[in-house]
Amino acid sequence: MKILAATSEAVPFAKTGGLADVTGALPLVLSEKGHDVRLVLPQYAMTKKWLDNNPQFAVQRINGIDVPIKGISIKCIVEELRYKNITVYLIKNNDYFLRDELYSTKSGDYEDNAERFVFFSRAVLKMLRLKNWSPDVIHLNDWQTSPIPLFLKTVYKDDPFYSSIATILTIHNLGYQGVFPSSELELFSGINPAEIFTMDRIEFYGKINLLKAGIVYADIVNTVSPKYAQEIQTPECGYGLDGVLKQRSHELYGIINGIDYDAWNPSTDKEILHHYNLECLENKRLNKLNLMNYFHLETGTESPQIEPDEKIPLIGLVGRLAAQKGLDILAEIFEPLLSMDIRLILLGSGEEKYHSLLQKIAKKYRGKISVNFGYNEELAHRIYASSDMFLMPSHYEPCGLGQLISLRYGTVPIVRETGGLSDTIEEFDPLSGIGNGFTFTEYSGKALLRAIKRACYVYQHNTDWQRCVSNGMNQDYSWSNSAIEYVKLYRRAVASKVRSSGIQKL
Ligand code: ADP
Repeated sequence: MKILAATSEAVPFAKTGGLADVTGALPLVLSEKGHDVRLVLPQYAMTKKWLDNNPQFAVQRINGIDVPIKGISIKCIVEELRYKNITVYLIKNNDYFLRDELYSTKSGDYEDNAERFVFFSRAVLKMLRLKNWSPDVIHLNDWQTSPIPLFLKTVYKDDPFYSSIATILTIHNLGYQGVFPSSELELFSGINPAEIFTMDRIEFYGKINLLKAGIVYADIVNTVSPKYAQEIQTPECGYGLDGVLKQRSHELYGIINGIDYDAWNPSTDKEILHHYNLECLENKRLNKLNLMNYFHLETGTESPQIEPDEKIPLIGLVGRLAAQKGLDILAEIFEPLLSMDIRLILLGSGEEKYHSLLQKIAKKYRGKISVNFGYNEELAHRIYASSDMFLMPSHYEPCGLGQLISLRYGTVPIVRETGGLSDTIEEFDPLSGIGNGFTFTEYSGKALLRAIKRACYVYQHNTDWQRCVSNGMNQDYSWSNSAIEYVKLYRRAVASKVRSSGIQKL
């Protein structure tokens, strides 16, 4: 198939979160399976820096294009490069994209985000004509690329170049929708606002909602786990879009994300000191001791009954410090948790209130907890490889990558049963030997603490613990399986497009 992945971020060109991991990995795997896959994203300052540091990926400049927006035309340049086995297009407009961050700074979101991404969406379609390449399917991701199917089904609907392109929208996190004042309707050049500003199109409580454009206009909608696909159709998790999602429930799917098994591999990982696999887990312990020493975490136990170092579980957490990630229920239990014989290492950045709380806790419990702020890829790898357990007490979690990486590294996840966490982690039962982690349902500090205590109990029983670790390490969450599911979905999108437009594809 000819597939275009359109995204606002993709590893290694630009990343703020899990979206970039997905859009960076899936196209490579699809290409390995024989499809013609191309990727398009904006060229940010971060992208330019990566290109400067990696001159082996030579950039070819394609002509500029004029993009209609706000009733005028604004130029951009399309750059092209070959990255591994795929072609990558970069949409370059320095006014919009050559900034320090992708979407927001500490003081808030960029004010022109609607304009930046409506521009990007339209530029993607103009670029296809410039390249004279008409894909079978455009795979859209989140609100930033959601205007694409709106343009296809309005301004371009009678244009033979575009009329057979199918679209699929992946919602990575319904919490981010791209809601803007209705005055931004002027961005959609050539479209009568009355045609799209209605309740069954992109109007959302008097504003415009770009994600809703994707949900309404894409041929197929999917999200990143089967459970989350169900959850978002309920008022509790639908963020005001449950009704419109429910209307599309017969075309709403859930496919679990994979992780890049080359980048995340404990037997070759360049960021870790001691490589290991299921047959040689002793090296995992060496990583743990090394990390604990490096971050001044005490390796001695307070309890005379237990042996020093290896019997103290090291619990890791890597992620955004936000309420979504369960930071508030974790904050409730810091005192009882840190009075247990455990060590905690955290890496993340996010909301100010969690930063100051964690700073206080780190001071009070020196030697028991290490708190690290910022984005640090290397340290993230070391934490996954060194920890015994990994915490993801998320309030909601569309898929979650942290628990999948942890399974690969023999680090046992402790998760709340929600979304993708619920689809991938099963409570370990020492009697049957089944399960790969520890789970809890109620969103409360108490329930979280109980799950951690159960994990710590099993940890003291080596045979059971090893079983739980190996159950996780033996699972396959590489992209291979999920990529096959995506191809099925692409074919479904094409079929649905053919049905709805009556176009016969050869
Ligand atoms: P999100 O909701 O943030 O996308 P995911 O679990 O889907 O959450 O993906 C988060 C990804 O970003 C994981 O690969 C995780 O290891 C990585 N990550 C998150 N925060 C940091 C950080 N501070 N430093 C390094 N990597 C991080």
